[in-house]
Amino acid sequence: MAASGEPGRPEEDEAALVVVVGSCMTDLVSLTSRLPKTGETIHGHKFFIGFGGKGANQCVQAARLGAKTSIVCKVGKDSFGNDYIENFRQNGISTEFTYQTEEAATGAASIIVNNEGQNIIVIVAGANLLLNSEDLKKAANVISRARVMICQLEISPATSLEALIMARRSGVKTLFNPAPAMADLDPKFYSLSSVFCCNESEAEILTDLVVGSPEEAGKAALVLLERGCQVVVITLGAAGCVTLSQMEPVPKHIPTEAVKAVDTTGAGDSFVGALAFYLAYYPNLSLEEMIKRANFIAAISVQSAGTQSSYPYKKDLPL
Ligand code: ATP
Repeated sequence: MAASGEPGRPEEDEAALVVVVGSCMTDLVSLTSRLPKTGETIHGHKFFIGFGGKGANQCVQAARLGAKTSIVCKVGKDSFGNDYIENFRQNGISTEFTYQTEEAATGAASIIVNNEGQNIIVIVAGANLLLNSEDLKKAANVISRARVMICQLEISPATSLEALIMARRSGVKTLFNPAPAMADLDPKFYSLSSVFCCNESEAEILTDLVVGSPEEAGKAALVLLERGCQVVVITLGAAGCVTLSQMEPVPKHIPTEAVKAVDTTGAGDSFVGALAFYLAYYPNLSLEEMIKRANFIAAISVQSAGTQSSYPYKKDLPL
């Protein structure tokens, strides 16, 4: 019989060790030769629907690596919501606390991409913004039994904050991804973050510093650390990441391997989901080793097209 918590061998009554409180969005993508002007109707040459939203992406990546996962989120009582729930099930994610509402539509991102890769995007967060305190209270048991809880800012910040407070009260490690970034982020988010993980542009918005190199990222990470996080990770695309912690407050650059990037969409979420998996299932690894492995997973995700469709499974990894 599998040991309790052994990755990839979930048992029916085993608690989810990675819990995400966050967003789901349906991506409606049209490919066109050029972007339309105001009031203009143009023909596109391809249309597809994808599963996105930072919370869902991160949860899917953790689940594919073998984590027992549960997502606390809200979708509309509509066909996109139904399809999203089915997508979670196919990825082995518990939907016990995936709520459906009639009061708003499932979050959607309407995306137009031209031949040069430029895009216009409209996001309607919809049902995501209705995830509330009552919903969290119903999920209190699953949150308190997790080893790691992940939150972002695509749902109401007040709900994210409350989830972080609930997790920390139960001794659950929190992985907070402040995306999309808010310049006036409530300072409590820093002190409630066991790990605070953002990308370069989010670090710039939060610190008012320029973050264009590992050295500059190290300076920004120090500012974030001083605000009360236990660990800070700033991801730097093809340059890997920079990290530091209260235990070792000296910035360390952790580069990643050079790969041929085809589509980097959702790489940050692949990294966060993978980091949550290692924090939950391999807590004795050093932080540096966990980050190296999360870099490796995210580097796989950039080598094929799509967001969740590019995320690797445990079986795709070298032994
Ligand atoms: P996105 O918004 O596209 O999801 P992001 O801007 O939040 O991504 P990045 O910093 O671009 O996040 O990338 C996250 C991680 O993904 C990096 O730390 C790295 O591990 C990996 N990665 C991203 N781009 C590349 C690349 N071109 N080559 C190798 N690894 C990459």
